[in-house]
Parts: sequence; structure tokens; C-alpha cells
Amino acid sequence: MDYESERKIMVAEQLIVRGIKDRRVLDAMGKVPRHLFVEEALRSRAYGDYPLPIGEKQTISQPYMVALMTESLELKGNEKVLEIGTGSGYQSAVLAELCDKVYSVERIKSLAVRARKQLDLLGYMNVAIKIFDGTYGWLEYAPYDAIIVTAGAPDIPKIIVDQLSVGGRMVIPIGDEFSQTLVKVEKKRDRITTTNICGCVFVKLVGNHGWKE
Ligand code: SAH
Repeated sequence: MDYESERKIMVAEQLIVRGIKDRRVLDAMGKVPRHLFVEEALRSRAYGDYPLPIGEKQTISQPYMVALMTESLELKGNEKVLEIGTGSGYQSAVLAELCDKVYSVERIKSLAVRARKQLDLLGYMNVAIKIFDGTYGWLEYAPYDAIIVTAGAPDIPKIIVDQLSVGGRMVIPIGDEFSQTLVKVEKKRDRITTTNICGCVFVKLVGNHGWKE
């Protein structure tokens, strides 16, 4: 398989045609080897226009969803970003290309361990991973310039919004178990605004301030 050409085609046919414009995001999506974040048997399908299973009943999001969420964070390069739901580590790698430091929280140990290993192999030294209930955020390094939640929540957890800096952006899927709306939350000096981006389907954000198991 020529994975580099697969990536180029994915960027052109799935991202650019659907309106992803941020050049840095397109370049990162064209660079990060997504096939190395899925099991070997699925590698030939890694650049397809769909999510894929990563074990533990979890999924790596569709490339377009990764690009759309990442673009919504408006990263310029010097940010500190919190990710909730490390999963395969693919989204963490894309973020690592675009900001200064990524703090990622995952509740399932086996996934966190595999993601760490893959990120190390690829040399992503600016990603820190913690095994914990991410519905608490990661208080130690707060506030964050951007926060991305890659699992669906019943509502916007206040405890996470509290860890967003003034001027910061956050994206999170909100809804029921079967379908959600991708919501962008922006913290202004005196208020918090929310904008609906699109419909989406994510696995559940399971934890104290999310869904109960
Ligand atoms: N960003 C990932 C997608 C992972 S799917 C990728 O690129 O592969 C969502 C992930 O969120 C799953 O791995 C799931 O275990 C994790 N998750 C769900 N609830 C969580 C919580 N409360 N804290 C941390 N991770 C959580």
C-alpha cells in the first residue's frame, strides 16, 4: 500500500471538498500516518471515509470529523491543548503537529498504553497522557487554550469549561447515546457562547460528569 498517496487522496476528496480550509490542519492530516493507529488487519482501510474500531468497543473517528474538530480549535502553534478521550492517539498526533503541548486523558488503560507506545515510536514528545476519568479534565495544567472532547456527553461539563482560558475554544459532542451535535464553546471575558457545528455520532463519555457506565 502507498499510504502517502492514500493520505493525499483523503485530504483532497474528504476534507477539502467538504470545506476544511486551514492549511495547517490539511498539512497535518496529510502527514500523520493514520494507518499506524489502527490494528494491522485494518490498515488498508485506514484512510477510508468512516470511523474504525480500535478495541474495547471504542473507535477512531472518521478523518473528516478529526479535521473539522481540529479546525474549530483555531490553533496557531503556541497553544496548550487538553484532549479528553485519547483512544488510538491519532487525534493527539494531529494536535501535536499544530500546537505546543497536548495533554490527553483516557479512562481505558490498554488504549492509553498502546497510544503512548505509538506516539513514542513516531517521536511525538509533546503529548502527555494520563489514565483517569477525563470528565474532571486535567486540573494540574489548566487553563488550556483549547479543549477537544472526543466522546459524546449528555451536557457540557462545567468542570471542564472551568479549565478553558479566557479567549479559549472547546469542541464537544452533546446529545443522547445514539446521536449528538458537535458544539463549539468559546469563553469570552464576560460570557460563554455556544455554536452548533453539525450532527455527529460518538462513543459515550463515561464518567462522573458524563454518562454512568
Ligand atoms: N480521539 C480518539 C477517539 C477515541 S474514541 C482517536 O483519535 O482515536 C473516544 C475515547 O474516549 C475512547 O477511547 C474512550 O475510552 C474515551 N473515554 C470515554 N469516556 C472517557 C472519560 N471519562 N475520560 C477519558 N476518556 C474517556
